Amino acid sequence: MIDMEERIMIENGTRLDGRRFDEVRPIKIEVGVLRNAVGSAYVEWGKNKVIAAAFGPREVHPRHQQSPIKAIVRCNYNMAAFSVPDRKRPGPDRRSSEISKVISDALTGQVFVERFPRTAVDVFVEVLEASAGTRCVALTASSLALADAGIPMRGLLVGCAAGKINGEVVLDLGKEEDNYGEADLPVGIEPMTGEISLMQMDGHFTREEFDKALGLITEASKGIHEMMIEALKRRYSEV
Ligand code: UDP
Repeated sequence: MIDMEERIMIENGTRLDGRRFDEVRPIKIEVGVLRNAVGSAYVEWGKNKVIAAAFGPREVHPRHQQSPIKAIVRCNYNMAAFSVPDRKRPGPDRRSSEISKVISDALTGQVFVERFPRTAVDVFVEVLEASAGTRCVALTASSLALADAGIPMRGLLVGCAAGKINGEVVLDLGKEEDNYGEADLPVGIEPMTGEISLMQMDGHFTREEFDKALGLITEASKGIHEMMIEALKRRYSEV
């Protein structure tokens, strides 16, 4: 959504990378990839490569952040300097703080935080390669890392986006579609209940387009959820 220049991104009903409107980019999931984390997950989603590490429930530092009635869930999202074609300046910035916050908020709604007062559950996300939709991939990976760490949760969150390109509502924008499209709607959803824990929007949808976008996300999230469960099962059948 950084450029208003009109680009042809749909030809004969197909997108630039050959996908249908309701198709997500290829996804690969592996759980338990890090020896030194309590739980971890690696997700490849299109050209995105994201790793998440989970810890806790554990003592809270700094102490003033602790809550006497519940655990706090913290997320630290970071993009590696080499994750994008133009080197990303290392360290936190406004965008990574925002993404960290929306992911922690979304995860807080899923973790049974009241069971672990005065503790912290931490998730660290490292984006190794970025190509649109990293917050969705990061949320999916974080949710898997928490599950791998054995943190009791209501369900697994799937991050998935839909957007608008050349006036058409499509699922899971790729990099060019994200740059030249008209709207992007990243969502965090628990597909079993349909509960939505994250929703952001960039650009403009009509009410009908918004409903269509959410419909596409809801449908796709069920398949992604199955892949997540399969990855977790693989991990625990190997031990
Ligand atoms: N991006 C980049 N440099 C940056 C931040 C982002 O090249 O410093 C790219 C990256 O590919 C990212 C995309 O821009 O995936 C879209 O970023 P946005 O803030 O919309 O978040 P995302 O779509 O990754 O959740």
